[in-house]
Amino acid sequence: MNLDRRQFLALTGGGLIASQAGGSAAKAQAVKTSANIVILGVGAAGTALANRLSERLDGARITLVDARKEHLYQPGLSLVAAGLKPPGYVVSQTKQWLPSDVAWVEERAAQIDPESKKVTTEGGTTLEYDYLVVATGLVLDHDAIEGFSLDLVGTDGVGALYAGPQYAEKTWRAAQAFSEKGGVGLFTRPATEMKCAGAPLKHAFLIDDIARRAGNAGKTDMRYMANNNSLFGVPIVAEKVRMLFQHRGIAPVYSHVLKSIDPGARRAVFDTPDGQAEMDYDYIHVIPPQRAPDVVRNSGLSWADKWTDQGWVEADAKTMRHLRYPEIFAVGDVAGVPKGKTAASVKWQVPVVEDHLVAAIGGGEGTAVYNGYTSCPLITRIGRAMLIEFDYGNNLVPSFPGVIAPLEELWISWLMKEIALKATYNAMLRGRA
Ligand SMILES: Cc1cc2nc3c(=O)[nH]c(=O)nc-3n(C[C@H](O)[C@H](O)[C@H](O)COP(=O)(O)OP(=O)(O)OC[C@H]3O[C@@H](n4cnc5c(N)ncnc54)[C@H](O)[C@@H]3O)c2cc1C
Repeated sequence: MNLDRRQFLALTGGGLIASQAGGSAAKAQAVKTSANIVILGVGAAGTALANRLSERLDGARITLVDARKEHLYQPGLSLVAAGLKPPGYVVSQTKQWLPSDVAWVEERAAQIDPESKKVTTEGGTTLEYDYLVVATGLVLDHDAIEGFSLDLVGTDGVGALYAGPQYAEKTWRAAQAFSEKGGVGLFTRPATEMKCAGAPLKHAFLIDDIARRAGNAGKTDMRYMANNNSLFGVPIVAEKVRMLFQHRGIAPVYSHVLKSIDPGARRAVFDTPDGQAEMDYDYIHVIPPQRAPDVVRNSGLSWADKWTDQGWVEADAKTMRHLRYPEIFAVGDVAGVPKGKTAASVKWQVPVVEDHLVAAIGGGEGTAVYNGYTSCPLITRIGRAMLIEFDYGNNLVPSFPGVIAPLEELWISWLMKEIALKATYNAMLRGRA
């Protein structure tokens, strides 16, 4: 790796400048239309798409529906839960990212009727649409873990960093105590599809690193509880993580899915292929099952024969278009495509939806294709990460071939997570990356 800090900043800065120029070019070709577009969810995907459509379309009515006033930069939660960033690092105001020519209904969608092309909000407002984009993200089903409640986070050795910035901060309190006192640490993940499947691994790596730096490695017994017989969905990455775990003394425990905890006794119960297994812990990190929000699951838009307990939208894997309702698209975590629950995937999905939606408005067919691109800067210690990028075929698809090796723990990949990822994410929200 021959890149120094100045070259790195030139590399990432250059990328953003290039994509900003692309945004202006798009505006020059705005398509005149009176189409009525409703976007459900103003997170990473909804915001990025709204900005891009507002550039591409002239005269369209674009309505965003979401009650969340604060935007969360979720990739930063892993850093908050390791004491490396304050909770405010991940929070901004939703409004600051939105283009001025869209309407924002600050309510949650309660019902989608794809037959009559209507959405009803929780406040009872009915919105008709010509095109609907489902970008509601997913819900964390904390109630599915018996004995667990968000009130426990930060106490009695319980962490849950996915639950939001305040919970990530409380998670750090519990994890920090473990890194000092030692004991058994259980790092879990759900058996459902999940966003950023690297995040549970990152948490295990970081807490191990923090304990080591404090001279407490000998005191900790770290166990990573995999939901199946692999540590990651991409085999070559799974093998690399297995080797790193072996080197670091983090024990993989396969096919153990968290069922319940007894916080008083600090005991966890796991479902395994051989029945239930109990384990005592001093620290447990809980990531609950993840599902599409009820409004989606009750709408008839989910797959009938796949992910039936999770309800992801039945979308074409290449175009993100609904397979039964061509005027509906899904984008981001809620989309029922085989990979792609990361913000980096959103960055590649959104232009595909934009292309097909704008083409449909003009009476044609889009040509853009989403190849499953998913990316995860997998932090392995403070100051080192692996930049893992892959597609539907589990191929590694590095963005900087010859510059950043995907399966090596590199300082530059750490900087990607520390500095460049947030800048690129923010540019994406503005529709410029
Ligand atoms: C701990 C953690 C670490 C991560 N690390 C990375 C990383 O390193 N790299 C990476 O690329 N990605 C990472 N991600 C994943 C990334 O943050 C998500 O994939 C991305 O935010 C998905 O965007 P989205 O728009 O689909 O969902 P979100 O950004 O979650 O937005 C969904 C929006 O929909 C709204 N909504 C929900 N229900 C309704 C309703 N009924 N009506 C209207 N609106 C509704 C919500 O309020 C929310 O605003 C991480 C995520 C987590 C949790």
